[in-house]
Amino acid sequence: MLRVAVVGSGPSGVYTAQALVQQSLVPDVRVDVLDRLPCPYGLVRYGVAPDHEKIKSLQNTLRAVLEDDRIGFAGNVEVGATGLAPERLLRLYHAVVYCVGAAKDRRMGIPGEDLRGSCSATDFVSWYSAHPDAAGGAFALGARSAVVVGVGNVAVDVTRILARGAAELRPTDVPHDALGALAGSRVREVHMVGRRGPSQAKFTTKELRELGSLPDASVHVEPADLALDPGYADASGLPAVNRRNLDVVRGWAAAGEDATGVRARSIRLRFFLRPAELLGEDGRVAAVRFERTVPDGSGGLRGTGTYEEIEAQLVLRAVGYRGVPLEGLPFDAARGTVPHRAGRVLRDGRPSAGEYVAGWIKRGPTGVIGTNRPCAKETAASVLEDAPALSARPLPDEPLDVLRDWGQRPVEWPGWLSIEAAECALGRSLGRRSVKIADWEGLLRAAGVDMAPQLPAA
Ligand code: NAP
Repeated sequence: MLRVAVVGSGPSGVYTAQALVQQSLVPDVRVDVLDRLPCPYGLVRYGVAPDHEKIKSLQNTLRAVLEDDRIGFAGNVEVGATGLAPERLLRLYHAVVYCVGAAKDRRMGIPGEDLRGSCSATDFVSWYSAHPDAAGGAFALGARSAVVVGVGNVAVDVTRILARGAAELRPTDVPHDALGALAGSRVREVHMVGRRGPSQAKFTTKELRELGSLPDASVHVEPADLALDPGYADASGLPAVNRRNLDVVRGWAAAGEDATGVRARSIRLRFFLRPAELLGEDGRVAAVRFERTVPDGSGGLRGTGTYEEIEAQLVLRAVGYRGVPLEGLPFDAARGTVPHRAGRVLRDGRPSAGEYVAGWIKRGPTGVIGTNRPCAKETAASVLEDAPALSARPLPDEPLDVLRDWGQRPVEWPGWLSIEAAECALGRSLGRRSVKIADWEGLLRAAGVDMAPQLPAA
């Protein structure tokens, strides 16, 4: 018998659990997928935008895996600093695979970044995705003009949500408070700004193109920005995705300012502008000062010493995620990942028995959801190769009972199904489809968790 804990129930965790039971030659494999949150699916639930229903439907695939008899779910179990130490968890499982993602946003490191009205796009995403840690979030939606820094897919997501009317979001599962706040939004212009050129932008074409199909927003590009990009003039040497992106941008450039007629909101794509400072008035952001950049000839950029200001009362930095250390596990601060070899956690350069990683904490915050599949398979193969040595160790019978004895209050699969049912009921009561519960108390109550304070057993 091999018993494995997977920490994190996002795509990388669920694909790892699936690979473990599918690839195992040992007939008796049992995998518990643990999560800090009471709900499964990680960034599919709390990162994929609410209007991306097709990607969201991936939850059905993840659900089928978590309903496998050999796989269990236990939410509301935190591993690390404030919860269960990795060393303790390893007493209950032959192997533990950490699939904890990259939990923090990166910063720009420029003056004014902490002015009111400036925040990370990931906080904004968490808020409209009903992440319980973001409950009660407040964003400067009274702004007329917003700047989104970065040209990756997160930047595209938040730009799109800002440019959509509330009526377009009402059919989604966006939490009711966020929907109300977005309905009152006064944002009319969203500037999405890249420090390099359109040929080097990180967004994918489908996501970019979608900006041009919003019912009440027009898209504009600046010919002078495009002219700086050698790849724009000759795209022949570029990877296919960048060439397709340029085709989309070219279409917008050709259409000019008036192509889409008058719309309620406009999206302005800007390039070769590096954020230098956020300018404030009375402690609130009022504009972003950018330095004009030019390509340095080897894929990077260099500053030109000329500056441009864009008015903005709301600034969202969408400059990437970063991994955070999990207490008790080694961490490579420069990369924001856990050092590993083929998924085996390395301590002082040597594989640590029974400890593994997969997903963003293994390879950094890049790639689409599907990238997690081969990554999970590689780690699962390492676990299974090590299984004969690992599984000789005797373990307590029921790990979740031990966790309860240690003061944890796991939300198991029936608890999660109760949350889903409560979200459907909430949606019905509001005349909407299922609406997400956005706070810890509401989630735990819906899951039937006893909320009385409980002291851990010694
Ligand atoms: P990302 O793809 O790495 O994009 C980050 C952007 O921020 C880049 O344009 C980068 O420019 C810029 N940037 C970084 N540091 C900066 C700075 N100091 N100043 C100005 N700009 C800076 O990150 P992401 O958008 O957070 O996405 C993370 C991952 O999730 C990606 O793999 C993405 O595809 C995925 N994702 C996918 C979807 C989807 O498929 N719909 C949705 C959301 C996220 P440089 O290139 O110049 O560094």
